[in-house]
Amino acid sequence: MRRALVVSLHDVSPHTWEPCQRILAALDVPVSLLVIPDHHGRGHFLKDAAFCEWLRARVAAGDEAVMHGYTHQRATRAGESLAARIITRNYTAGEGEFFDIEHTAALELVAKSREEFRAIGVEPSGFIAPAWLLSAEGERALRELGIGYTTRLRAVTALQHGTEWQSQSLCWSVRAAWRRAVSLAWNVSLFHRLESAELMRIAIHPVDIAHPRIWEQIARFIAAAARLREAMTYERYVAL
Ligand SMILES: [Zn+2]
Repeated sequence: MRRALVVSLHDVSPHTWEPCQRILAALDVPVSLLVIPDHHGRGHFLKDAAFCEWLRARVAAGDEAVMHGYTHQRATRAGESLAARIITRNYTAGEGEFFDIEHTAALELVAKSREEFRAIGVEPSGFIAPAWLLSAEGERALRELGIGYTTRLRAVTALQHGTEWQSQSLCWSVRAAWRRAVSLAWNVSLFHRLESAELMRIAIHPVDIAHPRIWEQIARFIAAAARLREAMTYERYVAL
């Protein structure tokens, strides 16, 4: 049995570039970089030539660029259900851009996004929705566009041949002190539960490195897992 480690860095954009660079400088494994084209509508990556050059170089050196939403933000809608309001505003803090996206909107946004990556010479094969929340219509749009894979909190899905690997991603919540304390304990137990699993997934967010105890645990888990597993991108894992 192959044993793989996939480390992903979420929310990569010109607005998070500085912490992203510090995180990547501290790691020596290939990383799936989840890039937001126009982070919160605050400026598209295409307008930042230095960022584009850096992304191209990272991909050439073995990382992977993954499409990660378009703005990462979900507009509040009139008449939405209570359940939708709770999930999109509380659980994800308004970041569920693809949580209930319709088919046509998903087709347009993902096709546009892919063209923008191609414009800088990067060919993304995966799409991962913000907060891992992807509607059924959004997933159908990804299949129709020929997107290779997507991931959710508990699974990696190869979209073109239907294979699905169950594996819950490690992920830290740092918004409040109590969340950080819960995250540290939760991830210790999840890390041990995954010790014999075929796939271990470690998801990092730029803000994680601002919290020393969180970052220390992340770096320690990656180093420990990389000694026993082959570290690779999602793109490579799905292709193997
Ligand atoms: Zn994200």
